[in-house]
Amino acid sequence: MDSDRGFLMLFDSIRSQEGPVSILKKALYHGRVPTAYLFTGPPGCGRMMAALATAASLNCQSGAIACGSCSSCLLYSAGNHPDLYLIGLPEGKRQIVIKQIREQILARAYLKPMSGKTSTFIVQDAHLINMNASNAFLKTLEEPPATSHFILIATDRDSVLPTISSRCQTLAFSPLPRLVVEDILLKEGIQKSQASLLAAMAKGSVKKALAYQSTGALEEMAGEFEPLSSLHNYGVGQLLDLAQRWGRNRQDALGVLEFMAQWYRDMLILFEGVPEDQVIHVAHIQELKKGADSIGGVNLASILESVEDAREAIEANTNVQLTLDTLLLRVRNHTLPTEKSA
Ligand SMILES: [Zn+2]
Repeated sequence: MDSDRGFLMLFDSIRSQEGPVSILKKALYHGRVPTAYLFTGPPGCGRMMAALATAASLNCQSGAIACGSCSSCLLYSAGNHPDLYLIGLPEGKRQIVIKQIREQILARAYLKPMSGKTSTFIVQDAHLINMNASNAFLKTLEEPPATSHFILIATDRDSVLPTISSRCQTLAFSPLPRLVVEDILLKEGIQKSQASLLAAMAKGSVKKALAYQSTGALEEMAGEFEPLSSLHNYGVGQLLDLAQRWGRNRQDALGVLEFMAQWYRDMLILFEGVPEDQVIHVAHIQELKKGADSIGGVNLASILESVEDAREAIEANTNVQLTLDTLLLRVRNHTLPTEKSA
């Protein structure tokens, strides 16, 4: 999506964020845009687009809301308006430090805008601004120059130091609905079956979906389907091997768990007779139906509970390998034909 920045700076292009977008538009119409905003929400849900649209609107030559076609808006579209400052975590760094805040914000915030009426500083990863840098930034947020606006972006308000967040008006962006993510991916030219799977995995974040796609994580995961369909035939040794393969690290293990949750949720949906268009793994519908019939609703619910328990345990830093060992044994027991109780 970065290839089309013009699309990125119009409010009309932002999907499913009616609440924050209408607040922003109202503020722009009335010329009462707060000096500092904090946009919260998962990456890839429209926060950055809204920040760019706000910045472009503040300098649009034809109205209160970015028109997308005046010479100022065109510069924002191209990402090189001289009054737009994008501040983010430098490559290889783990924090935004005082030097960066001084050089990229404080040194510029008190200067007159270069070509428009206002300068906008968009700070991505605002939760990574460290204490010293926050203190340096504070004074500017408290007594800002009239021509400077600040938009901070973070996943949630609590992750940002309170000294900073208390001086910003917070606008909460929600994770995008699965079907919206899917639709955006389809428009990006991704195939339907892949798009629905990516959208389900991405939990409301287009950025995450595209990352899954580009790393090939999806293809890798698709190769894991086979064991899930025949877990009941696995001996203990094979199960432990599988757990070892799936649990090489915490991140992989969480991906596998997400995948398992979808897989068995699909079966439960089919078991309960919910319309098939709710199924994520549509390409495997026959396999899923077969599984749903043989495992049954009660066991499927228990499996989903076990998967959720394992996810919580791994997120709480429990030994990945042991957690997966236990989980797979449990899941197998629930899928054994003799254990069927539904
Ligand atoms: Zn314009």
